Amino acid sequence: MDFLITDELKAIQLAVREFIEKEVHPRESIIEEEDRIPEELIEGARKLGLFGVSIPEEYGGLGLNMVGKCVVGEEMGRGIAGFSGYQGAHTGIGTSGIVMVGSDYLKEKYLPDMAEGKKIGAFALTEPDAGSDASNLKTTAVKKGDRWILNGTKHFITNGPEAHVLTTMAVTDPSRGARGISAFLVENTFPGFSVGKIEKKMGLRGNHTSEIIFEDCEVPAENLLGKENEGFITALRILANGRAGLAARCSGACRRLIELSLDYASKRVQFGKPIIENQAIQWMLADMEMETQAAKALTYQTAWKVDQGMNIIKDAALTKLFATEVYNRVADKAVQIFGGMGYMKEMPIERIFRDARITRLYEGTSEVQRMVIAAQMMKKS
Ligand SMILES: Cc1cc2nc3c(=O)[nH]c(=O)nc-3n(C[C@H](O)[C@H](O)[C@H](O)COP(=O)(O)OP(=O)(O)OC[C@H]3O[C@@H](n4cnc5c(N)ncnc54)[C@H](O)[C@@H]3O)c2cc1C
Repeated sequence: MDFLITDELKAIQLAVREFIEKEVHPRESIIEEEDRIPEELIEGARKLGLFGVSIPEEYGGLGLNMVGKCVVGEEMGRGIAGFSGYQGAHTGIGTSGIVMVGSDYLKEKYLPDMAEGKKIGAFALTEPDAGSDASNLKTTAVKKGDRWILNGTKHFITNGPEAHVLTTMAVTDPSRGARGISAFLVENTFPGFSVGKIEKKMGLRGNHTSEIIFEDCEVPAENLLGKENEGFITALRILANGRAGLAARCSGACRRLIELSLDYASKRVQFGKPIIENQAIQWMLADMEMETQAAKALTYQTAWKVDQGMNIIKDAALTKLFATEVYNRVADKAVQIFGGMGYMKEMPIERIFRDARITRLYEGTSEVQRMVIAAQMMKKS
């Protein structure tokens, strides 16, 4: 395996790092307190091409492979989760389906605007009765002439209120279970489309999550994404690739937690010396570093396998599981190192601790990842 990054990718990495440090970190309190991504950050991300990392160059994107996407994801993860979640859901689960299985017509119609961030993407699979049991969908799509008519409600959809183009899964043949689900590209302007309840969440401020309601929503026949009744397989492929990107964002967040913890522990004096001089603190820092590096190594190994066209169902699941659990352990240790200050909103640690929690739930819970890993192991044995 060769994870050495090219000079071109190194330049992108450094540009994103500078953007995060100079533009994103100083706006942390705006995102947190006002629950919005400032327009200048969206503009900055546009200039860097961050809305098109995974979109091929012929459609105006950066055309990065999965290792490249993870390099960008890691830097974004060092920023603010609400912002990286917005950009990550768009570039990952929001656009990758079009790149993977979209027709030339759909690619030409949507990808250039999505690469520029003029159109934002989302992924609408989950429903009230279809969470971990993701194929238990109630949303239906019935063909009428040159249109599909969608009815149903999705919930917990990242970027739901802002999204212009939603990769949406609906039942097209109820007699076939998971093999009777198709994927569609639904625009927020199509008749019968509306945004429902916007959730109030524990964290991820700035990144909005909502219901999406389809009431006789009219979708042109050509907006079928991939083949009819193959939408659930497409959804699983999108999610598997998304898991490597999410794991990269987790490693980036861990890196920031370590940097902040090292700095605080070197300055905070108790019993007449900086707390970092205590072995108990050093051991926490050492464990944070060890686990972060292990998560990062696993992430790049999986990304490399994606780029080789290898089957990554098990790798993606164990990478997502490990990286998200490491992120939560590292965040917990960071709060411990900060002591009471780690619990106060004036420190970023408190926010990062809350933001870490979602990663063990979305894009498949930790339990679901374990189910996938075990199922693959049993298949092999
Ligand atoms: C902030 C946020 C953003 C999201 N963004 C999106 C999005 O953009 N698009 C989208 O489609 N979805 C999205 N989701 C949905 C997310 O993927 C689901 O919430 C997740 O898959 C879990 O489903 P659930 O919430 O219904 O939990 P449930 O499936 O009800 O699970 C509840 C608990 O039971 C456990 N469990 C369930 N079944 C089993 C089993 N067989 N064995 C052992 N344990 C089990 C689960 O692991 C969990 O601990 C988002 C969710 C959140 C909270």
